[in-house]
Amino acid sequence: MDKKKTVALIAHDNKKPEIVEWAKAHAERLKNFNLCGTGTTAKLIEKNTGLNVKPFLSGPLGGDQQIGAGVAEGRIDAVIFFCDPLQAQPHDPDVKALLRIAVVCDIPIATNKATADCVIMAV
Ligand code: PGA
Repeated sequence: MDKKKTVALIAHDNKKPEIVEWAKAHAERLKNFNLCGTGTTAKLIEKNTGLNVKPFLSGPLGGDQQIGAGVAEGRIDAVIFFCDPLQAQPHDPDVKALLRIAVVCDIPIATNKATADCVIMAV
């Protein structure tokens, strides 16, 4: 049985360089998890770190909702979500829904680097 926890990785466009650097910095730790993410973020992290990251759809095309479903169904144990507070997102309702379901299910959801640093050491 696979006892590894699953961590989802998401970054809005302006935050993608930041999540790639974060994933590089935490690569050794991240190897201990099943990783998944929204499409573009997952592929970028995989390409730049060599980590295996299962891609869902791109965020604006439903990827955040897929991750939200994973949270609701108990398949995702934590979410690292580098969101951009300075730019409007076309899929803002999906972002809100993901934040909400993480609260409902009481799973860690880190929305900036400082929190992500804490969560990835604790999860
Ligand atoms: P992306 O989606 O990784 O496919 O760009 C992220 C988002 O904007 O939710």
